[in-house]
Amino acid sequence: MKVYKFGGASVRNADGVRNLLKIIGDEQDLFIIVSAMGKTTNALERVFAGLQREDRRAAQEEIDALRGYHAAIIDELFGRPTRLERIERLFGELETIAAETRYRPEEAELWYDAIVAFGELISTTIISEYLAARGVENCWLDMRRCLLTEQRHKDATVDIAASAPRLREEMARSSARIFVGQGFIGSAPDGTTTTLGREGSDYSAAVAANILGAESMSVWKDVDGVLNADPKIFPDAVQIAELNYLDTIELAYSGAQIIHPKTIKPLQNKNIPLYVRPFGDKRKPGTVIRSVSAPVEVPILILKKDQMLLTVRSRDFSFVLEERFATIFSLLESHRIKVNLVHNSAVNLSLCADDSWHIDEAIRALRRERFDVMKVDNMELLTIRGYNDALLERYARGPSVFILQSTQSTARIVRKRQ
Ligand code: ASP
Ligand code: MG
Repeated sequence: MKVYKFGGASVRNADGVRNLLKIIGDEQDLFIIVSAMGKTTNALERVFAGLQREDRRAAQEEIDALRGYHAAIIDELFGRPTRLERIERLFGELETIAAETRYRPEEAELWYDAIVAFGELISTTIISEYLAARGVENCWLDMRRCLLTEQRHKDATVDIAASAPRLREEMARSSARIFVGQGFIGSAPDGTTTTLGREGSDYSAAVAANILGAESMSVWKDVDGVLNADPKIFPDAVQIAELNYLDTIELAYSGAQIIHPKTIKPLQNKNIPLYVRPFGDKRKPGTVIRSVSAPVEVPILILKKDQMLLTVRSRDFSFVLEERFATIFSLLESHRIKVNLVHNSAVNLSLCADDSWHIDEAIRALRRERFDVMKVDNMELLTIRGYNDALLERYARGPSVFILQSTQSTARIVRKRQ
């Protein structure tokens, strides 16, 4: 069994879906994980935001636009105006949630998941029906029945051991040799829908690969493979042929958008190679990620956006701040603030963290613990692995740089958004 994962960009229009069919070719024994089409998840986040503001009209307008977008793809795929009953039903369910939910702030994440999960349910339904219409026998799986996550919304971790028998059982119901399932979604022990964090479809695919003992996993993307930097930000980016699991985790953690950070562990545990391949050309080798690889010869630059810098200082200078690290970190953890870099002095603790819905609450809680807290928004974190003087000169100097931390191999720069 091989696992193939198709991201939103690769199935953003009818051509993309046809291309997916071409990539499958005459292969059998495939487990295909698909994300929501194009920017659907962003649109569903806006549906949720409408609900949150009690602006049901705005939410409904977003749903109407999504309906139109998917209907156009379906019509083009089937070559004539086509109504797929299962798609109608999914949109009906989504509309019911948007119209009837009585939103309470403490349930924000629950409703977020209930809504954004539709992107993948819709995309996989369209793709499964299209494949069947083109003679590719396949079985559509509801991954909410297959993947059991922890009881946590919006960023849940999959319980692989508990999911394994479920997934196998769902697959055993069918004699198909090609399966199509949603990335990004699962369900919690209480039965509600959960999501695995933005871009979490890679992680879903890795979990499936782990459970099925797949021979490989391939992620089909709109780039030729893993590059040493984002070419939109750093124009002279080059492709890397091989990476090892450990470096990949480091890169993903630093914000490289190669792969979701949780993807590697399930693969590494079973020693399953991961191919990052261009969906435009099946013959190109892409990048392979596995346990051992040739050393990477070029510096790698990773920019993590949407950061903020918190500076925490104890009001009472008489004690050493370090003694209270535990208090600060457990408070941040309980507000689900993701800290990406820590820098400390005797009286200051500076933290570069992901911008979050919960930051203001966290700051209030820290102040209650008698800390002074200062927040600077609009920051970004640049990580350079294998840096050199010229790169530091270019990226780590000037008034926009707040923090520069470096080890022998890696420099990390917290700076104002450029
Ligand atoms: N559709 C989800 C997102 O856009 C998950 C994914 O693409 O992997 O975040
Ligand atoms: Mg996506």
